[in-house]
Amino acid sequence: MIEVKNLKKKYGSFEAVKGVDFEIGKGEIVGLLGPNGAGKTTIMKMLTGYMFPTSGTAVLNDLDVVEHPLEVKTAIGYLPENTPLYNDLSVYDYLSFIAEAHGLDKKKKEERLAAVTKECGLEKVLFRPISEISKGYKQRVGLAQALIHDPAILILDEPTSGLDPNQIIEIRDLIKRLGREKTVILSTHILQEVEAICGRVLILNEGFIVAKGTAAEIAKELRGQDVLIVTLKGADPNALSADLGACAVIDRVMSAETQGGDRVILRASVKPGATGADEAVFDWAVGTGNKVLSIAPQRLSLEEIFTKLTREGTSNDQ
Ligand code: ATP
Repeated sequence: MIEVKNLKKKYGSFEAVKGVDFEIGKGEIVGLLGPNGAGKTTIMKMLTGYMFPTSGTAVLNDLDVVEHPLEVKTAIGYLPENTPLYNDLSVYDYLSFIAEAHGLDKKKKEERLAAVTKECGLEKVLFRPISEISKGYKQRVGLAQALIHDPAILILDEPTSGLDPNQIIEIRDLIKRLGREKTVILSTHILQEVEAICGRVLILNEGFIVAKGTAAEIAKELRGQDVLIVTLKGADPNALSADLGACAVIDRVMSAETQGGDRVILRASVKPGATGADEAVFDWAVGTGNKVLSIAPQRLSLEEIFTKLTREGTSNDQ
């Protein structure tokens, strides 16, 4: 659905996007996550054909954005950052105008207007001037204009920016609903947004994609190895550490702490390539007479991943 290869963008001598590659399949909601100035908006502008890449390719719905800019625009719906709306028009007149700009005939226009009004929950404000409606409703109108021509792909630049917590929840729910039918790429610097809406994430820093995948996949890649948190019955961390270290699937016991005097919590890395480590630890416990109270894989939160990957900063944020 979206295929990006070695995409670069220079503003003068400054390279804002330094060669990014990614693919997004049909029906996915993918988050482009990065600190301010990472290059998110620049990538979105190139995907939508609003700005040509300096080099590299972006293909949407089998159409190259440089070779087929008009066709690409009909295949995508774009919600730019700080949605530009015509404040003097009513919601209805504005959406009607956008529908006509897309070349929809009268019948199709009325059909689509009715559909997006319902989808985006605009019934109450349809005939109010845009200047008078709340920021949350304005954002819904922004989404409605992106949807009016029923595109297969939605490109949303910071769709919840500036909204209050209730409005954020409403817009996220709406995007999730839209994601059932459409391919969605959205940019954000809010981690919770990605966790709440997106199946996959591309983490961008200073013009590079520094990680991609689900949060769990990225965490695994970062750690390089699986880590298990094993709680054993007992009071001697050193002895239990040595015991667990002898288990065939365990590479190294990294830490052991007593808790409540009768249990020890151990962090242990699993040998690279070993599978079924938790089962092997249970078998080891049965064989050695140890009592396992719990076993859980250690997970890095998306926040920890993000900090780790983007800690070097946002030096080119202007
Ligand atoms: P934010 O989260 O703040 O919107 P972003 O990740 O969307 O940031 P971009 O807006 O793509 O980042 O900007 C990437 C870099 O390119 C920044 O350093 C920015 O200052 C620079 N930049 C963006 N637009 C231009 C421009 N028209 N001319 C020169 N530099 C630009």
